[in-house]
Amino acid sequence: MIEDKKTSIIKGIPASPGIACGIARVIYRWEQSIEERTIESSRIENEMSRLDTAVDNTLKELSKYQKTAGSKIGGPVAKIFDSQVLIASDAEFLNKVKNEIKKTHKSAEYIYSMQVEKTLLPLQRSRDPYMRQMITDIEAVSHRVLRYLTGQGESDISQFSKDCIFVGKFFTPAEVLGLFERNARAIITTEGSPNSHMALISQSLIIPTVVGLRQAHMKIRSGDRLIVDGEKGLITINPPDDEWKKLKGKGAELKELPINRLKKLPVFPLKTKDNIKINVAANINIPGPIDKILSEHKIGVGLYRTEFLYLQQGHFPSEDEQHEVYDSVAKRYYPQELVIRTFDLGSDKFLKDKDAIKENNPALGWRGIRASLGNTRIFKDQIRAILRASIRGNIKLLLPMITDLPELKRAQGQIKRAMVELRKEGREFDSGIKTGIMIEVPSAAITADILASRVDFFSIGSNDLTQYTLAADRDNQRLVGLFNSLHPSVLTLIKNSITAAHKNNIPVTVCGEMSGNPLAVPLLIGLGVDELSMNPSQLNGVSKVISKIETEKSQLLARDILKLVSVRDIEKKLMEFNLSL
Ligand code: PEP
Ligand code: MG
Repeated sequence: MIEDKKTSIIKGIPASPGIACGIARVIYRWEQSIEERTIESSRIENEMSRLDTAVDNTLKELSKYQKTAGSKIGGPVAKIFDSQVLIASDAEFLNKVKNEIKKTHKSAEYIYSMQVEKTLLPLQRSRDPYMRQMITDIEAVSHRVLRYLTGQGESDISQFSKDCIFVGKFFTPAEVLGLFERNARAIITTEGSPNSHMALISQSLIIPTVVGLRQAHMKIRSGDRLIVDGEKGLITINPPDDEWKKLKGKGAELKELPINRLKKLPVFPLKTKDNIKINVAANINIPGPIDKILSEHKIGVGLYRTEFLYLQQGHFPSEDEQHEVYDSVAKRYYPQELVIRTFDLGSDKFLKDKDAIKENNPALGWRGIRASLGNTRIFKDQIRAILRASIRGNIKLLLPMITDLPELKRAQGQIKRAMVELRKEGREFDSGIKTGIMIEVPSAAITADILASRVDFFSIGSNDLTQYTLAADRDNQRLVGLFNSLHPSVLTLIKNSITAAHKNNIPVTVCGEMSGNPLAVPLLIGLGVDELSMNPSQLNGVSKVISKIETEKSQLLARDILKLVSVRDIEKKLMEFNLSL
């Protein structure tokens, strides 16, 4: 008999579509009510040893977890626990706690939680992603120690089981990988935005995800029954018994729903109502279970975000390691195209401490192509690996975050050098390989004319282009209302880029989230975009819209939209168009 708890429905921000039902597993409990308790002098020593035991148990638990993560996934998931081990065993901090216990005669859990709060306070003011990660790690460790101190014991890893819906403050891309390995049915976070990399990665793994649900940690408890609608951002907590039983009966179907939906896609190419072919491709972060479905449907890859290779492994993979991956992905998709983007690390796609450079403003700092040009050994390894995998002729090379012509020329110089080397070594590659650039920095969009004559294609990264044009951090939940790729300023830059590209006879792809938004699709087609590349989970919705579009009407729509001056009016117009289809 299922205990009948009160049903409630809460709404967050949809980040990855799909419906799932399962049991909640709250990963970090933020508010642990620890009572202020005074200890008799004779019990002080005992309090110290309770603290030592709790820390020892935490370290044992962490190392167990480290091993599991290492063997099952490897790389960064295991490394996350390295930093947690360091935090848990921080002698200076533990001495501070002990001294306070001696001084105040308060319980170990009370003093420990007080000291943790003191440590977190200054960090919490920081918006630096490294600091945010540090906060998450400290919270994770302290929660474990406090569990032992309050007699709750080990947070049971076996509970990370099949039916879990994971609830947390924020999960890093690596952690999402770990949750995927644990068959996460869905993910719910109190922070984050739909454009964060956490969201992108759960989309690529087709895990229904809702973010920015501030009340989640107050309303959801581990063990609660949940229904998650990742499309609408709705969470039903403890649904009535009959609804729950009905859904549980469909458990397997629910879990596989997003993949099943992909299997129902038509075989590509897609055509509009007036029979015009529209190129649609998929964005992939981590080659995986959906590649087979995509290639069977003759869907190519418009954007392969290779930085996830680094995030997965926790270090820069060698040329040979990369060659092996790129070659097998190119083979899997052949004869469809595979657009490989060179590492776009830095800022929100943050590096491990050992490789990171501390910056005050990482989004405007050492990231993307800047980091690659700053470390030509790593860049060359990657270019050589891509070139070596290009022998079938279906690989295109894409450079991220290009700002201006000198930067482009430097990158092209490196590519030429790698080609000369490979030729000397007698290695084969596609000497006609097409090289394109991401248009995602306003300076590139503004000077698109200059850049277009030097490359083979443009790929508009509407996520970053929006972030930089509107000065609105794509991961900042407070700015979700401002961050909008349909802003007239962003549309003007997109239009400018398309005009410049077509004047120079090169094609344009849009590969940001915008291209998977059914509202924006008719507009992009009307603007003359040559290809839309999107998260696989968005392919079904977009292909339906495309089949209903008449190209001439979408061109008229684009003309009208470019005259509008506010996001509100633009969205209204697009909504009306969508309803008329
Ligand atoms: C973009 O910025 O729109 C893009 C596709 O690149 P990423 O999301 O990987 O930054
Ligand atoms: Mg980008």
